[in-house]
Amino acid sequence: MSDSQNELLQDYKDNLLGVFGDPALVLTEGQGVYVTDANGKRYLDLLGGIAVNSIGYAHPDWVAAVSEQAGKLAHISNLFTSPQGISLAHQLLELTDAPEGSHVFFANSGSEANEAAFKLARRHGAARPGPDGAARTRVLALENAFHGRTMGSLALTAKEAYRAPFEPLPGGVTHIPASIEALEAELDDTVSALIVEPVQGESGVHVLPDGFLARARELTREHGALLIVDEVQSGIGRTGQWLATTAQLPEGVFPDAITLAKGLGGGFPIGAMITVGTEVSSLLTAGQHGTTFGGNPLATAAASATLDVIKDEGLLGNADVVGAHLAAALNDLPEVREVRQHGLLIGIDLVQDSPEQALAPAVVTAARAAGFIINATGPSTVRLAPPLIITAQETDSFVASLPGIIRDARAALA
Ligand code: PLP
Repeated sequence: MSDSQNELLQDYKDNLLGVFGDPALVLTEGQGVYVTDANGKRYLDLLGGIAVNSIGYAHPDWVAAVSEQAGKLAHISNLFTSPQGISLAHQLLELTDAPEGSHVFFANSGSEANEAAFKLARRHGAARPGPDGAARTRVLALENAFHGRTMGSLALTAKEAYRAPFEPLPGGVTHIPASIEALEAELDDTVSALIVEPVQGESGVHVLPDGFLARARELTREHGALLIVDEVQSGIGRTGQWLATTAQLPEGVFPDAITLAKGLGGGFPIGAMITVGTEVSSLLTAGQHGTTFGGNPLATAAASATLDVIKDEGLLGNADVVGAHLAAALNDLPEVREVRQHGLLIGIDLVQDSPEQALAPAVVTAARAAGFIINATGPSTVRLAPPLIITAQETDSFVASLPGIIRDARAALA
């Protein structure tokens, strides 16, 4: 077999700007839960394009919807709208059960959805001044938060290594520990918004502590601040419900804004911000925010097809059942220290030989050699976020191979 893959990777390395570092593979095809590289090697994709390929690769309904829409009307700009954009907005409001007066703003990524939410917080801060009459400009976010890498979303992101090279970032953001005590200490009448991920994905799959979000809702209401939930990674079925927030708030209680992206388009770049209720939905007025591509007919048709497949194929239930099956099997392995499972968003802490050992990145490499795609979120943690169509049998093949993969990784590190 010719080594097309290495030739292409070398070309990338020599001639292209590798802002993401060196890519590990050149992928040429995807079908269902499998992808194929430039050498024809097939991998079981347990990462799903980092929680994006929610209905797997090349789902026939998605392909048909995208193809048909591409042949009809792909892009129209934000000066116009389309039946596809309107229909997707209705679908999102319905599946999130958002109350009357809620609106949807379309963006092109998770970072952009969070930029919109940040702007919403600024508008709210101006509309609802603090006790001294001045606009509230403080935004609270959580330690270990990841909200994106554009300047505004980066200001909300906690990770110092991502932030430091780009200082000064937009100001006013305070990162607090994800504890009710810290929240009670920091949330006061100077705060315009609190933004949280119901399950932090990039930090290694950590759910908010019990009762945190419900208390955050009470406190934000009490102090007149917005509660914004970033469901970019945890939303659209990933945790076994349309929104992870649903499991963390009492029935009928909503945040003020919800941001979505990743799994929403099933592989098509699209983000969204849902503003909940009339008051919050009127904060951003016409012309204050927008994007050229956001909500275009092609992207919204792709997202609608994705939501239909998730619903029609019962993928929320599948995420629950297969996720629990996979977690139970992983928990039985002596090489695994802890599993954090929320539907099909799973963080696995591995048993390391020493605290300094970077076992997880070596496991990712060894897994790839064995035909599995996963990623590392830290030195001892790997994350799984496979397509929601994955079967228990497919996950079994990974669990059966994992001890051997870890053995290979240890050998590579020795
Ligand atoms: N918010 C969360 C919770 C995420 O996990 C991510 C990406 O990993 C983002 C925002 C940024 O999304 P994007 O990469 O589409 O800009």
